[in-house]
Amino acid sequence: MKPIKIILCLLLFCLCSACKPSSSAPLTKVGTMMDTIITITLYENGSPALLEQAFALCASYETTFSRTDPQSEVYRLNHAGGKPTVVSQDLYTVLQTALTFSRMTDGAFDVSICPVVDLWNFSQTSPMMPSEEELAQALGKVNWNNIRTDRNTVQLLDGVQLDLGAIAKGYAADGICDFLIEQGVTSAIVDLGGNVKTVGVRPDGQPFQVGIQKPFEERNTTIGIIDVAGQSVVSSGVYERFFRLEDRLYHHILDPKTGYPVQTDLLSVTVVSEDSMMGDALSTSLMMLGLERGRALAEEMGVHAVFVEQTGQLHFTAGFVEALHYQAAE
Ligand code: AMP
Ligand code: MG
Repeated sequence: MKPIKIILCLLLFCLCSACKPSSSAPLTKVGTMMDTIITITLYENGSPALLEQAFALCASYETTFSRTDPQSEVYRLNHAGGKPTVVSQDLYTVLQTALTFSRMTDGAFDVSICPVVDLWNFSQTSPMMPSEEELAQALGKVNWNNIRTDRNTVQLLDGVQLDLGAIAKGYAADGICDFLIEQGVTSAIVDLGGNVKTVGVRPDGQPFQVGIQKPFEERNTTIGIIDVAGQSVVSSGVYERFFRLEDRLYHHILDPKTGYPVQTDLLSVTVVSEDSMMGDALSTSLMMLGLERGRALAEEMGVHAVFVEQTGQLHFTAGFVEALHYQAAE
């Protein structure tokens, strides 16, 4: 089991003291799944049974997307010896989106990075630096063009293996929110280790307020707060999984060209979007592209994003501050 992603990118501030009394108290459950901490809170029209079902759905996504669980669909695909394999609609959709992001980023976003991810251990207590030879060997298997998809069949050529860590949580957050909405829930927050998606608004009719984590600071230290009503808020950052060795920081967003953590001018990126799968893939992609190309891509896609530069300076896509009522932390 890999170390749990304990630092949440985003902090939720449900200012319930300001809420009108609601018909029932919020229902919250916290658990550990998908290699991270999951918190689901139902504010309106929820029930304990629905909360359990939402967690069960999350567990089923884990059984689809985990690369380490021998029972999972991704594990079985990774070990299918390159044979064409019929996959679930969930896996097919995530793969198609991942390939779209590979095309858009000229291969900087690449879910075939799996063998390189396997070589790094980003735990602070027992960090591991792969050797040049190990990296070169693993890089030989990284190539998103070797992921072939056709009518729900997937073929992984030339030893390709998948790691969907950069996109699967977003897809799961979308699925859980869709399920809750279908079941009549009108106000909820689904937080999959900082990959946050909201359902509706707070019970008092006001938007949820979501804090954006300040890189490397204690949890609950934010750079600012935004208003969110039904959207997703996803961060990627060098501070999420990293270790330091001889004064250098090695983080978990890896460059498919070199096998090393991507050299970037950014500490973090936070993306606000309707679709959380897209927000998840995009936030990782923007980290790869850096401030200039990243901001241009986000604006071209019409998605709001905030970038924290290595210097600590903040940069926003056009209209971010006004549209999301961004308030800087004091
Ligand atoms: P995120 O936290 O969403 O930015 O995703 C980071 C995770 O995605 C890492 O922990 C790896 O599992 C995986 N990953 C690392 N580098 C890449 C990359 N260049 N493209 C796609 N996935 C990556
Ligand atoms: Mg991501």
